[in-house]
Amino acid sequence: METIKAVRIMKPGELRIVEEEMPHIDEVNNVLVKVKASGLCGSDAGIYHGTNAAATYPRIIGHEIVGEVVECGASASKVKVGDRVIIDQVTACGHCYACRHGRPNVCQNLKVRGVHIDGGYREYMAVPDKDCYILPEGLRYVDAVLIEPTTIAVQACSRAQIQEDDEVLINGQGALGTRMLSIVKLHHPKKIIVSDIVDEKLQDALRNGATDVINPLKENFFEKLRDITTDGYGPTVSIDCACTKDSLGTMIQGSGNAGRVITMGFTNTPTEVTNFGITSKELDIRGSRLQNRKFQEVIDLVKEGKVNLDHQISHVCDFREAQSGFDFNDTHDPSIRKIVFTMEGEPYKVRPDKD
Ligand code: MN
Ligand code: ZN
Repeated sequence: METIKAVRIMKPGELRIVEEEMPHIDEVNNVLVKVKASGLCGSDAGIYHGTNAAATYPRIIGHEIVGEVVECGASASKVKVGDRVIIDQVTACGHCYACRHGRPNVCQNLKVRGVHIDGGYREYMAVPDKDCYILPEGLRYVDAVLIEPTTIAVQACSRAQIQEDDEVLINGQGALGTRMLSIVKLHHPKKIIVSDIVDEKLQDALRNGATDVINPLKENFFEKLRDITTDGYGPTVSIDCACTKDSLGTMIQGSGNAGRVITMGFTNTPTEVTNFGITSKELDIRGSRLQNRKFQEVIDLVKEGKVNLDHQISHVCDFREAQSGFDFNDTHDPSIRKIVFTMEGEPYKVRPDKD
């Protein structure tokens, strides 16, 4: 039996490098992809630690998956052998209410690669050709992994329907918040206000297009919001990239009338919000989950030079050393921006910034 290596989370806290049967193409999964790189996302760490309520075990994790097409079935028309691709992580039933309304990312029978079905921490996988998107020429595999987190930001902005007279609050400047800023600014809103408790991140945000920043540990969050926004109106779009227990209530309280509040968190912990807070301003509270076929849009933005994915991966790790990669990720070392696993024997190292 031909076998491949894979990283399988057997149960929370137990990571194993396993031998699996080589995947084969069939009628549905008509493309065989040799995986080249898979990102380590916060949600992968959550599955490893058992804090992701959606995940089932044992599971090959990884949903930020890039690779090379090495075999195509007769029915595969979208890609050909030799194409460099990224794989959509969302698989949907196609017939439920959400699917019929063009929203497969919240399909009632949603199966996310690396969460509900096996993902990309392995050497080969078979997928439908329609789930493959051809990478921009010249974009390295390790950098191309970032297309996936960028699709998440594009999805949130499409839910927010940002207009040029909007004043947008981005709450949080971690991995998600920084990607959000790079997409929000493409909509040219009147103001982009970034909030975070780390001053260095706020300085970076100002360099990267934020018009105003708030550090709620050092200044009164609501007062500063009123000072910054036109006529003290409050933000008309609030996107929560911090996703802490209380950030929803804070976003609602800070929002201007007729505003949109976008939630992206997955915490199950109850928090206090009031009817009055929402009704009196007639707010739209909108969830944004995964992404709805946003890969081509992001790939086009990269090709047009509107989104830059270079020099943002801080660490590259051979996937057979995944245990040390997850352990290092758990140290929350300040040098960590993004860790990427590769399948072709690159040693664990800090990725040089230039090459
Ligand atoms: Mn991700
Ligand atoms: Zn469905």
